[in-house]
Amino acid sequence: MKAILLDRDETLNEDPGYLNDPEKVILKPGVVSGLAALRNAGFEFFVMTNQSGVARGLISQDQLRAVNDRISRLLAHDGLTIRKFYICPHGEPIMCECRKPRPGLFLEFFREFRANPAECFAIGDKLRDIAAAESSGVRGILLGTADMGAQVPPKNLVYTAQNFQDAADYIIALEKG
Ligand SMILES: [Zn+2]
Repeated sequence: MKAILLDRDETLNEDPGYLNDPEKVILKPGVVSGLAALRNAGFEFFVMTNQSGVARGLISQDQLRAVNDRISRLLAHDGLTIRKFYICPHGEPIMCECRKPRPGLFLEFFREFRANPAECFAIGDKLRDIAAAESSGVRGILLGTADMGAQVPPKNLVYTAQNFQDAADYIIALEKG
């Protein structure tokens, strides 16, 4: 299996901040067309998301599930499937293994699914989305012009894309060699 390991907020959907209402889910431009192109190229989709709003009491487990279900349903309109949502519900003060940029969500994915890291890609709007995939050997694509500031880009960052469609086009061009 080859997989795209997707950040959720500001990658798949607009992020109003601690999104807890399924009615407020809006997919970002280029996501449906980009995912469809990647699906046609043989990729499967998984989400890797930090949801510290759960630890902060701003998002209940039911609300989190409802938002994820809404994203899944919107994508299902176009025959697109998120195989699984991997979620870190913890807040900053807890040194869990799973809050990106820590690698726990990616390690869990590779324990559960037989996928070749060299054939997988991580896509996200923050450097931490890419950094979390580095130790797994997954290449990362950053969306938009995230403020790099003084941060050193992770070694697995291979491309900075204008938007989701651009990220998908880049991956498909790589595949074709
Ligand atoms: Zn965590």
